[in-house]
Amino acid sequence: MPVPLLDVNAQNLPLQEELIKTFEKVLQSGRFIMGEEMEAFESEVAEMVGAKHGISVSSGTDAILLALMVLGLGEGDEVLCPSFTFFATAGCIARTGATPVFVDCCPVCFNIDIEDAKSKLSSKTKAVIPVHLFGQAANMDAVMELAYEHDLKVIEDGAQAIGATFRGRGVGSIGDFGTYSFFPSKNLGGFGDGGMLVTNDDALAEKALMLRNHGMSPKYYHKLVGGNFRCDALQAALLRVKLREYETYTQRRQANAAYYIEQLVKLSGVVQADPSHCGCAEQQRQQLITEGTQLVLPVSYEHNEHIWNQFTIRVLNGKRDAMKAFLTEKGIGCDTYYPVPLHQQECFDGLSKTALPVSEMLAEEVISIPVYPELSKEQKDEVITEIQNFIKN
Ligand SMILES: *Cc1c(COP(=O)(O)O)cnc(C)c1O
Repeated sequence: MPVPLLDVNAQNLPLQEELIKTFEKVLQSGRFIMGEEMEAFESEVAEMVGAKHGISVSSGTDAILLALMVLGLGEGDEVLCPSFTFFATAGCIARTGATPVFVDCCPVCFNIDIEDAKSKLSSKTKAVIPVHLFGQAANMDAVMELAYEHDLKVIEDGAQAIGATFRGRGVGSIGDFGTYSFFPSKNLGGFGDGGMLVTNDDALAEKALMLRNHGMSPKYYHKLVGGNFRCDALQAALLRVKLREYETYTQRRQANAAYYIEQLVKLSGVVQADPSHCGCAEQQRQQLITEGTQLVLPVSYEHNEHIWNQFTIRVLNGKRDAMKAFLTEKGIGCDTYYPVPLHQQECFDGLSKTALPVSEMLAEEVISIPVYPELSKEQKDEVITEIQNFIKN
């Protein structure tokens, strides 16, 4: 039985009837840009994540770009961001004219390493973009402390983590802005591109609303130069249907991850870090990995609610590509997020270079396996069996 890495139809087709009805409703309304459905969707998401304002936009990328524009970041400014993330985080910084300054990450939770961030501060540093990678919150206590001490703005890139929490608070609701993506492979996957920006600050929200639509207020009067970052009514209406199921999707992802961990950790050569605290410290890294270690499982820290956008394993001893080929041959979907850290991307060749050893190591070691909500027990068992077969050889 093949096990795809993601199966969007398994999630969407059971909702087909309701989605079609929703489409008809929007069709008949004749209103396709923004509007009531969008506003309802914004309040529902804002409430779910615990933020005051939700501002839906055209994509997760545009949410980050808009946040940077609202905060007035641009040429001459430096913005800290992890190197081990999806391109959009840094791409948006560069597009404003500001300089992305790449920071290394924790080998256990894959999120920004604040000690390393401190070493990269300069008089030009104006903001930091922590990414809640793979569905788990970055250490927001440390991020907010750094921001407070150095007067930095904070944009949380929650594209992969909508609904995840850090010490009980929704990710995205802690910094100046939080951003989410509704790209089909994200946990709240839409029917095309879409994204959202959240904030608790009234003035920032107002400026974001204006910049979302060409800096226009009132109509045809432009106080600022914005863009077209608007959201489609249809996208919002369809996403509202899925939002009602969202808690179930999350619980199933969490159950899948828990099952993988329970079964895989029993195998010899498979280890998992202590979930009680972040493993940035060199020492924990050393103690975790011994001579016979082959795989390192991902961890959900006790203070976080992880929503498992990806279940990402580290494959040691240079065997990642071999494991990828093996699983692929057995019909098990898998992929590497991300094979090239951003500080090594060609488009950033012009930036000053420092080695980021953890990001570089992870790019060579990581593999993500299927964790989507609709996986059956048989499928999960098959994934586990094939991983076991691989490490036995
Ligand atoms: C997907 C993603 C984005 C961009 O979202 P889009 O909706 O695809 O534009 C940004 N940051 C991270 C970490 C992502 O995973």
